[in-house]
Amino acid sequence: MTGEKKKKIIKSIKIDVDKCNGCRACELVCSAFHAKPKYSSNNPARARIRVISEPLKDIYVPVYAGDYAPAECAGRDKYTIDGKEYDECAFCRASCPSRDEFKEPDSGLPLKCDMCEGEEEPLCVKWCLSDALVLEEREEEVEEEEEQEELETGLEALADKHGLQKILDTIARMSKKE
Ligand code: SF4
Ligand code: SF4
Repeated sequence: MTGEKKKKIIKSIKIDVDKCNGCRACELVCSAFHAKPKYSSNNPARARIRVISEPLKDIYVPVYAGDYAPAECAGRDKYTIDGKEYDECAFCRASCPSRDEFKEPDSGLPLKCDMCEGEEEPLCVKWCLSDALVLEEREEEVEEEEEQEELETGLEALADKHGLQKILDTIARMSKKE
């Protein structure tokens, strides 16, 4: 690490849980945008945002998918806020081995919010008609860092699950077939 600084745009999405009505339009549009090809299908289980939704307790909390975690934490947290009890790890953003959230439902590969790379505005923000999600941007000086690509994270997750050698053998076998 050279310690070199560079300017980076920090994007944050302010979430107002009092304005969220649990419509889940954000989940729908996110999964459609990330379908291949784009908008060819939608499946909220593939969304990179998840709305914790418990209508009987009047709980609606959008949570964004964060990084892939190869191992689960040694302990789990459980919150009670204003008398409302939330599930174990409810606010955690990790794609973690302890649960199904933020993973491709078919393959188990990690999903991570990319702030809708290439779009002017994140689509979940655009489609939240209740204004529960608001984008904020600011510039910050940060240490130069290498960002891991989605493909790399996916391969890392596969290697954690099956072992690196097995992945390499499979790729070698597949490329022979081509
Ligand atoms: S689109 Fe907005 S109001 Fe609807 S669930 Fe998502 S955050 Fe809540
Ligand atoms: S910013 Fe884009 S990728 Fe992230 S949750 Fe919203 S729609 Fe999905």
